[in-house]
Amino acid sequence: PTCLVWFKSDLRVRDNPALYAATTFEPGTANINSGMKQIRVGGSATTAAASASNLPVIALFLINVAEWALHDMAPLRADFILRNLECLKHELAQLHIPLIVRVVEPDDAANHIEDRHHPVAAPTAVLEVARRVHARHVFFNREFEVDETRRDKATQHMLEADGRTVHTFQDQCVMDPGSVRTKEGKVYKVYSMFRTTWITHVVRDRMWDKLTPDPRPNPKGACGAGSAVAAYLARWSEVPTQLAGDVLRVDPAQAILARTHFPAGEAEAHARLATFLADRSPMYTTHRDLVAQAGTSSLSPYLSSGILTTRQALHAAMRANNGRIEGGSAGLAKWISELVWREFYRHILVAFPHVCKHQPFKPEYKNVPWLNDPLAFDAWTRGRTGYPIVDAGMRQLNTLGWMHNRCRMITAMFLTKHLLHDWRRGEHYFMQHLIDGDFANNNGGWQWSASSGVDPQPYFRIFNPLLQSQKCDPDGTYIRHWVPELTHLHGKALHNPHAELPAAEFARLGYPTPIVDHKFARQRCLKAFKTALGKM
Ligand code: FAD
Repeated sequence: PTCLVWFKSDLRVRDNPALYAATTFEPGTANINSGMKQIRVGGSATTAAASASNLPVIALFLINVAEWALHDMAPLRADFILRNLECLKHELAQLHIPLIVRVVEPDDAANHIEDRHHPVAAPTAVLEVARRVHARHVFFNREFEVDETRRDKATQHMLEADGRTVHTFQDQCVMDPGSVRTKEGKVYKVYSMFRTTWITHVVRDRMWDKLTPDPRPNPKGACGAGSAVAAYLARWSEVPTQLAGDVLRVDPAQAILARTHFPAGEAEAHARLATFLADRSPMYTTHRDLVAQAGTSSLSPYLSSGILTTRQALHAAMRANNGRIEGGSAGLAKWISELVWREFYRHILVAFPHVCKHQPFKPEYKNVPWLNDPLAFDAWTRGRTGYPIVDAGMRQLNTLGWMHNRCRMITAMFLTKHLLHDWRRGEHYFMQHLIDGDFANNNGGWQWSASSGVDPQPYFRIFNPLLQSQKCDPDGTYIRHWVPELTHLHGKALHNPHAELPAAEFARLGYPTPIVDHKFARQRCLKAFKTALGKM
């Protein structure tokens, strides 16, 4: 028999509770579903030999194109995942752990389609692999979105019904979702209050310090060279990198750019983290909203695909801050508080699963009379709204698969408030293009921008795109880079060319007139939201 580790959005070997547990699992010991509470700090066990009683470990990753499409996965993100799989395969090979990369065929689900939206192909495929490699024990880290939870549970049931044991773990958050509550046991709906209690728990239980030890290697040849298992492993050992181009339609030029900006691998993620903490974190408070600067960590793709954990990021940041979570370096403390947003949105998702079902977090916002003008949406997606900062942001997204946080807020609010377009269309568009696409953060960010989410400020928070532009791109470097029609402009003309330039000069730019007047749009938005909320 063997142990099978099913990798999903946890494409790393370090701080990976499911992988560690599989490599240290001894048959006959107690069930370890309880999680990793017993684990000490950063034990480096990679060179230790596995005990003779350990079972050989085999790793699995499923490429489920249908599921990826159902969840709007961006081709660049799929490409990023495939690139990281190559790195993971290499890391696992150092541990003598073979990686099966199984492409899920629609046939895998043929006998199980009860619900079109339930990606049942995955459980069937995991079961098939478990049978082929004689895996008596299957290990995986849980995911929290509604579809993913159902998929994980269905997989567990199917495996258990087949006589296998399943061991699952929580690796997505520092604090288990649901564990941070008010004194009355209620779930927090406001970030600042969540953050205070979260910090108390993390410090009290030293959660930031509880990194999972490194996994142990398989003994050499543990997976039976020459056996049927070995033949199966050989058949599914290649990462089908060409899939990104053939099936997922990654634009080759874009892929090259994304590969330069976001190289794959755990080593890259840790190097990025170390460089950010050492060199750029001191300026984080002052530079994080300056969109032309590399003022943020750009670690989001690595966190979203689990190349790096939030706990690793927190651990490193706190070490850099002399063990402090608050106080000390203002930049580090602020950066940690951004990691808490990530945690908060996951806690929200688990406590209020209706946000996974295209519903507003605040139900009273469900009747906003969206205009949903298709031409306006098209102009927004192409970066042709006539508002340079909005257009620059959208073009950055379309080109790189990544957008600065400040511009995500500006563009999202522009779509929902200025164009009165349903936030769900914007949420999907972002997901279809982001290399760091992450349901909880993206949904949280969109709902925050549309005022239907966790922002305690109600609907009347409406960014003025011109003021935002002057604040976050004061010398216009970002706009000039992403909107080449405006490269030669400076000062106010760059931020607002239509209003500032003579008509003839503006006409020569080949740049669109503003799609909507700011003051008019603001009034229209206020009226629409008030009507929907019964305040008119
Ligand atoms: P840093 O400033 O270095 O922050 C470090 C990490 O903290 C980030 O990598 C991220 O994991 C987390 N973080 C920072 N800000 C936020 C935030 N506001 N909410 C949640 N987590 C945060 N983030 C994603 O990872 N995936 C998404 O799909 C996504 N969609 C978004 C959509 C909208 C409309 C908005 C407003 C925000 C969205 N965000 C998303 C959050 C944020 O924009 C990105 O996490 C951030 O820009 C990533 O850059 P960074 O890694 O340099 O961030």
